[in-house]
Amino acid sequence: MCMKQVPETTEVKIDQAQNRVDTGGLTRIINPYDTYALEEAIRIKENSGATVTVVSMGPDEVDQSLREALAMGADEAVRLSDPAFEGSDPLATAYILARGIEKLGDYDLIICGRQAMDGSSGNVGPGVAEELGLPQVTFVRKIEELKEGYIRLQRMTDDGYEVLEGPLPMLITVVKEINEPRLASLKGLMKAKRVTIPVWGLSDLGADPSRVGPSGSPTVVAKVAPPPPRSGGEIIEGTPEEQVKTLVAKLKAQKVL
Ligand SMILES: Cc1cc2nc3c(=O)[nH]c(=O)nc-3n(C[C@H](O)[C@H](O)[C@H](O)COP(=O)(O)OP(=O)(O)OC[C@H]3O[C@@H](n4cnc5c(N)ncnc54)[C@H](O)[C@@H]3O)c2cc1C
Repeated sequence: MCMKQVPETTEVKIDQAQNRVDTGGLTRIINPYDTYALEEAIRIKENSGATVTVVSMGPDEVDQSLREALAMGADEAVRLSDPAFEGSDPLATAYILARGIEKLGDYDLIICGRQAMDGSSGNVGPGVAEELGLPQVTFVRKIEELKEGYIRLQRMTDDGYEVLEGPLPMLITVVKEINEPRLASLKGLMKAKRVTIPVWGLSDLGADPSRVGPSGSPTVVAKVAPPPPRSGGEIIEGTPEEQVKTLVAKLKAQKVL
Protein backbone atom coordinates (compact mmCIF):
# COMPACT_ATOMS: atom_id res chain seq x y z
CA MET A 1 0.00 0.00 0.00
CA CYS A 2 1.11 3.60 -0.56
CA MET A 3 1.36 5.78 2.53
CA LYS A 4 2.10 9.50 2.64
CA GLN A 5 3.23 11.34 5.74
CA VAL A 6 1.44 14.68 6.20
CA PRO A 7 1.46 17.56 8.72
CA GLU A 8 -1.06 16.99 11.51
CA THR A 9 -2.60 20.43 11.52
CA THR A 10 -5.22 21.92 9.24
CA GLU A 11 -4.04 25.41 10.23
CA VAL A 12 -1.63 25.66 7.35
CA LYS A 13 1.02 28.38 7.27
CA ILE A 14 1.78 29.77 3.84
CA ASP A 15 5.26 30.72 2.65
CA GLN A 16 4.16 33.29 0.06
CA ALA A 17 7.72 34.09 -1.04
CA GLN A 18 8.29 30.44 -2.05
CA ASN A 19 4.68 29.83 -3.14
CA ARG A 20 4.34 26.79 -0.96
CA VAL A 21 2.94 25.53 2.32
CA ASP A 22 5.35 26.00 5.23
CA THR A 23 5.36 22.68 7.10
CA GLY A 24 8.32 23.51 9.35
CA GLY A 25 7.84 22.62 13.02
CA LEU A 26 4.59 20.71 12.50
CA THR A 27 3.94 17.24 13.92
CA ARG A 28 3.78 14.71 11.11
CA ILE A 29 1.35 11.79 10.92
CA ILE A 30 0.23 9.06 8.53
CA ASN A 31 -2.19 10.64 6.06
CA PRO A 32 -5.54 9.79 7.71
CA TYR A 33 -6.95 8.24 4.50
CA ASP A 34 -3.93 5.96 4.37
CA THR A 35 -4.73 4.50 7.79
CA TYR A 36 -7.91 3.07 6.17
CA ALA A 37 -5.86 1.75 3.24
CA LEU A 38 -3.41 0.15 5.67
CA GLU A 39 -6.16 -1.33 7.84
CA GLU A 40 -7.78 -2.89 4.76
CA ALA A 41 -4.44 -4.36 3.68
CA ILE A 42 -3.87 -5.83 7.15
CA ARG A 43 -7.39 -7.34 7.18
CA ILE A 44 -6.69 -8.98 3.80
CA LYS A 45 -3.45 -10.34 5.23
CA GLU A 46 -5.28 -11.73 8.27
CA ASN A 47 -7.85 -13.45 6.03
CA SER A 48 -5.58 -14.71 3.28
CA GLY A 49 -2.01 -14.81 4.52
CA ALA A 50 -0.94 -12.09 2.07
CA THR A 51 2.12 -9.94 2.74
CA VAL A 52 1.61 -6.21 3.31
CA THR A 53 4.35 -3.87 2.12
CA VAL A 54 4.14 -0.14 2.79
CA VAL A 55 5.81 2.19 0.29
CA SER A 56 6.32 5.87 0.95
CA MET A 57 8.18 8.64 -0.79
CA GLY A 58 9.58 11.28 1.51
CA PRO A 59 12.42 12.45 3.76
CA ASP A 60 14.00 10.73 6.83
CA GLU A 61 11.10 11.74 9.13
CA VAL A 62 8.81 9.42 7.16
CA ASP A 63 10.50 6.43 8.83
CA GLN A 64 8.55 7.26 11.99
CA SER A 65 5.22 6.77 10.15
CA LEU A 66 6.55 3.65 8.42
CA ARG A 67 7.39 2.18 11.84
CA GLU A 68 3.87 3.00 13.00
CA ALA A 69 2.53 1.14 9.94
CA LEU A 70 4.72 -1.86 10.83
CA ALA A 71 3.44 -1.69 14.41
CA MET A 72 -0.14 -1.77 13.12
CA GLY A 73 0.60 -5.01 11.26
CA ALA A 74 2.39 -4.35 7.97
CA ASP A 75 5.16 -6.84 7.17
CA GLU A 76 7.64 -4.63 5.34
CA ALA A 77 8.28 -0.96 4.66
CA VAL A 78 10.32 0.79 2.00
CA ARG A 79 11.08 4.49 1.72
CA LEU A 80 11.82 6.15 -1.61
CA SER A 81 14.09 9.13 -1.20
CA ASP A 82 16.68 11.00 -3.22
CA PRO A 83 17.65 14.68 -3.52
CA ALA A 84 16.48 14.38 -7.14
CA PHE A 85 12.91 13.62 -5.97
CA GLU A 86 12.55 17.04 -4.30
CA GLY A 87 9.99 19.25 -6.04
CA SER A 88 8.08 16.28 -7.45
CA ASP A 89 4.44 17.02 -8.23
CA PRO A 90 1.76 14.29 -8.12
CA LEU A 91 2.69 13.02 -11.63
CA ALA A 92 6.37 12.62 -10.72
CA THR A 93 5.40 11.17 -7.32
CA ALA A 94 3.25 8.55 -9.07
CA TYR A 95 6.14 7.71 -11.41
CA ILE A 96 8.56 7.26 -8.47
CA LEU A 97 6.10 5.14 -6.47
CA ALA A 98 5.40 2.98 -9.53
CA ARG A 99 9.14 2.33 -9.99
CA GLY A 100 9.39 1.38 -6.29
CA ILE A 101 6.45 -1.01 -6.56
CA GLU A 102 7.92 -2.51 -9.72
CA LYS A 103 11.21 -3.12 -7.88
CA LEU A 104 9.33 -4.85 -5.07
CA GLY A 105 8.03 -7.22 -7.72
CA ASP A 106 5.13 -9.55 -7.16
CA TYR A 107 1.87 -7.80 -6.18
CA ASP A 108 -1.85 -8.50 -6.49
CA LEU A 109 -3.49 -5.42 -5.04
CA ILE A 110 -2.15 -1.89 -4.51
CA ILE A 111 -4.16 0.17 -2.02
CA CYS A 112 -3.95 3.97 -1.72
CA GLY A 113 -5.96 6.53 0.19
CA ARG A 114 -8.53 8.55 -1.79
CA GLN A 115 -6.42 11.68 -1.25
CA ALA A 116 -3.72 13.19 0.89
CA MET A 117 -4.85 15.58 3.62
CA ASP A 118 -2.37 18.25 2.49
CA GLY A 119 -1.91 18.04 -1.30
CA SER A 120 -5.43 16.59 -1.79
CA SER A 121 -5.05 16.18 -5.55
CA GLY A 122 -6.27 12.57 -5.46
CA ASN A 123 -4.05 12.04 -8.49
CA VAL A 124 -1.31 9.83 -7.14
CA GLY A 125 -3.23 6.53 -6.92
CA PRO A 126 -4.63 6.74 -10.46
CA GLY A 127 -1.19 7.92 -11.65
CA VAL A 128 0.51 4.85 -10.18
CA ALA A 129 -2.07 2.57 -11.86
CA GLU A 130 -1.48 4.29 -15.20
CA GLU A 131 2.31 3.97 -14.85
CA LEU A 132 2.04 0.26 -14.09
CA GLY A 133 -0.63 -0.35 -16.74
CA LEU A 134 -3.10 -1.64 -14.14
CA PRO A 135 -6.88 -1.37 -13.92
CA GLN A 136 -7.99 0.97 -11.13
CA VAL A 137 -11.08 1.61 -9.03
CA THR A 138 -11.25 4.79 -6.93
CA PHE A 139 -13.38 5.57 -3.84
CA VAL A 140 -13.75 1.94 -2.77
CA ARG A 141 -15.98 1.57 0.32
CA LYS A 142 -16.06 -2.23 0.56
CA ILE A 143 -14.24 -5.24 -0.81
CA GLU A 144 -17.01 -7.81 -1.30
CA GLU A 145 -14.88 -10.66 -2.59
CA LEU A 146 -11.20 -11.22 -3.16
CA LYS A 147 -9.69 -14.39 -4.54
CA GLU A 148 -6.89 -15.49 -6.87
CA GLY A 149 -6.96 -13.11 -9.87
CA TYR A 150 -10.41 -11.63 -9.05
CA ILE A 151 -11.89 -8.80 -6.98
CA ARG A 152 -15.46 -7.53 -6.51
CA LEU A 153 -15.93 -4.24 -4.73
CA GLN A 154 -18.26 -1.36 -3.95
CA ARG A 155 -17.32 2.07 -5.26
CA MET A 156 -18.87 5.04 -3.50
CA THR A 157 -20.72 7.55 -5.70
CA ASP A 158 -22.53 10.81 -4.84
CA ASP A 159 -25.88 9.09 -4.45
CA GLY A 160 -25.07 5.49 -3.56
CA TYR A 161 -22.55 2.93 -4.73
CA GLU A 162 -21.59 0.82 -7.74
CA VAL A 163 -20.61 -2.86 -7.59
CA LEU A 164 -17.62 -3.52 -9.84
CA GLU A 165 -15.56 -6.61 -10.52
CA GLY A 166 -12.30 -7.11 -12.30
CA PRO A 167 -9.02 -8.96 -12.56
CA LEU A 168 -6.00 -8.70 -10.28
CA PRO A 169 -3.50 -7.11 -10.15
CA MET A 170 -5.42 -3.87 -9.63
CA LEU A 171 -4.99 -0.54 -7.85
CA ILE A 172 -7.74 0.81 -5.62
CA THR A 173 -8.13 3.99 -3.60
CA VAL A 174 -10.27 3.77 -0.48
CA VAL A 175 -12.66 6.04 1.42
CA LYS A 176 -12.99 6.20 5.21
CA GLU A 177 -16.30 4.29 5.15
CA ILE A 178 -14.37 1.08 4.36
CA ASN A 179 -13.31 0.20 7.93
CA GLU A 180 -12.25 1.41 11.37
CA PRO A 181 -8.43 1.51 11.55
CA ARG A 182 -6.79 -0.14 14.56
CA LEU A 183 -4.20 1.60 16.72
CA ALA A 184 -0.59 0.48 16.74
CA SER A 185 0.17 -1.65 19.81
CA LEU A 186 2.93 -0.68 22.22
CA LYS A 187 4.58 -4.07 21.68
CA GLY A 188 4.41 -3.51 17.92
CA LEU A 189 5.93 -0.04 18.25
CA MET A 190 8.81 -1.39 20.34
CA LYS A 191 9.47 -4.13 17.77
CA ALA A 192 9.23 -1.72 14.82
CA LYS A 193 11.83 0.57 16.43
CA ARG A 194 14.50 -2.04 15.71
CA VAL A 195 13.60 -2.54 12.04
CA THR A 196 15.96 -1.12 9.42
CA ILE A 197 13.89 0.47 6.68
CA PRO A 198 15.48 0.25 3.21
CA VAL A 199 15.79 3.53 1.35
CA TRP A 200 15.79 3.43 -2.44
CA GLY A 201 16.99 6.38 -4.50
CA LEU A 202 17.00 7.29 -8.18
CA SER A 203 19.66 4.76 -9.24
CA ASP A 204 18.23 1.92 -7.09
CA LEU A 205 14.94 2.39 -8.91
CA GLY A 206 16.56 2.73 -12.32
CA ALA A 207 14.36 5.79 -12.68
CA ASP A 208 14.56 8.26 -15.55
CA PRO A 209 15.97 11.52 -14.05
CA SER A 210 13.88 13.60 -16.47
CA ARG A 211 10.68 12.18 -14.95
CA VAL A 212 11.36 13.10 -11.30
CA GLY A 213 11.67 16.38 -9.40
CA PRO A 214 10.96 19.69 -11.15
CA SER A 215 11.91 18.38 -14.61
CA GLY A 216 9.31 15.59 -14.36
CA SER A 217 6.63 17.85 -12.87
CA PRO A 218 4.39 19.69 -15.32
CA THR A 219 2.36 21.27 -12.49
CA VAL A 220 3.29 24.87 -11.83
CA VAL A 221 2.06 26.42 -8.60
CA ALA A 222 1.29 29.95 -9.80
CA LYS A 223 0.28 31.32 -6.41
CA VAL A 224 -0.34 30.02 -2.90
CA ALA A 225 -2.29 32.31 -0.60
CA PRO A 226 -4.35 31.97 2.58
CA PRO A 227 -8.12 32.44 2.05
CA PRO A 228 -9.31 35.99 2.84
CA PRO A 229 -10.70 36.34 6.37
CA ARG A 230 -14.47 35.96 6.55
CA SER A 231 -16.46 39.18 6.70
CA GLY A 232 -19.12 39.37 9.42
CA GLY A 233 -22.49 37.83 8.53
CA GLU A 234 -25.78 39.69 8.50
CA ILE A 235 -28.70 38.68 10.70
CA ILE A 236 -32.05 39.24 9.05
CA GLU A 237 -34.71 40.23 11.59
CA GLY A 238 -38.50 39.80 11.49
CA THR A 239 -41.03 36.98 11.27
CA PRO A 240 -40.02 33.94 9.18
CA GLU A 241 -42.14 35.31 6.28
CA GLU A 242 -40.47 38.72 6.49
CA GLN A 243 -37.03 37.11 6.71
CA VAL A 244 -37.69 35.04 3.56
CA LYS A 245 -38.92 38.13 1.66
CA THR A 246 -35.86 40.15 2.71
CA LEU A 247 -33.50 37.30 1.85
CA VAL A 248 -35.05 36.74 -1.60
CA ALA A 249 -34.85 40.50 -2.31
CA LYS A 250 -31.18 40.53 -1.30
CA LEU A 251 -30.35 37.49 -3.44
CA LYS A 252 -32.15 39.08 -6.43
CA ALA A 253 -30.24 42.32 -5.90
CA GLN A 254 -27.00 40.28 -5.99
CA LYS A 255 -28.30 38.49 -9.13
CA VAL A 256 -28.00 35.14 -7.32
CA LEU A 257 -31.68 34.44 -8.08
C1 LIG B 1 5.26 21.77 -8.30
C2 LIG B 1 5.18 20.95 -7.05
C3 LIG B 1 6.31 20.69 -6.27
C4 LIG B 1 6.24 19.92 -5.13
N1 LIG B 1 7.36 19.69 -4.38
C5 LIG B 1 7.31 18.92 -3.28
C6 LIG B 1 8.48 18.63 -2.49
O1 LIG B 1 9.58 19.09 -2.80
N2 LIG B 1 8.36 17.84 -1.40
C7 LIG B 1 7.14 17.33 -1.04
O2 LIG B 1 7.05 16.61 -0.03
N3 LIG B 1 6.03 17.57 -1.75
C8 LIG B 1 6.08 18.35 -2.86
N4 LIG B 1 4.95 18.62 -3.58
C9 LIG B 1 3.73 18.01 -3.16
C10 LIG B 1 3.73 16.58 -3.65
O3 LIG B 1 3.97 16.49 -5.00
C11 LIG B 1 2.39 16.00 -3.42
O4 LIG B 1 2.06 16.14 -2.08
C12 LIG B 1 2.45 14.53 -3.78
O5 LIG B 1 2.69 14.45 -5.15
C13 LIG B 1 1.17 13.84 -3.47
O6 LIG B 1 0.11 14.51 -4.08
P1 LIG B 1 -1.14 14.77 -3.20
O7 LIG B 1 -0.69 15.29 -1.90
O8 LIG B 1 -2.10 15.54 -4.00
O9 LIG B 1 -1.64 13.25 -2.96
P2 LIG B 1 -2.99 12.57 -3.40
O10 LIG B 1 -2.97 12.25 -4.83
O11 LIG B 1 -4.15 13.37 -2.88
O12 LIG B 1 -2.79 11.23 -2.54
C14 LIG B 1 -3.58 10.08 -2.80
C15 LIG B 1 -2.90 8.86 -2.24
O13 LIG B 1 -1.68 8.63 -2.94
C16 LIG B 1 -0.71 8.08 -2.06
N5 LIG B 1 0.43 9.02 -1.93
C17 LIG B 1 0.47 10.34 -2.21
N6 LIG B 1 1.71 10.83 -1.99
C18 LIG B 1 2.47 9.80 -1.57
C19 LIG B 1 3.82 9.68 -1.16
N7 LIG B 1 4.67 10.71 -1.14
N8 LIG B 1 4.27 8.45 -0.78
C20 LIG B 1 3.43 7.37 -0.79
N9 LIG B 1 2.14 7.44 -1.14
C21 LIG B 1 1.66 8.64 -1.53
C22 LIG B 1 -1.40 7.89 -0.72
O14 LIG B 1 -1.96 6.59 -0.68
C23 LIG B 1 -2.50 8.94 -0.78
O15 LIG B 1 -3.61 8.63 0.06
C24 LIG B 1 4.99 19.38 -4.72
C25 LIG B 1 3.85 19.64 -5.50
C26 LIG B 1 3.93 20.41 -6.63
C27 LIG B 1 2.68 20.66 -7.41
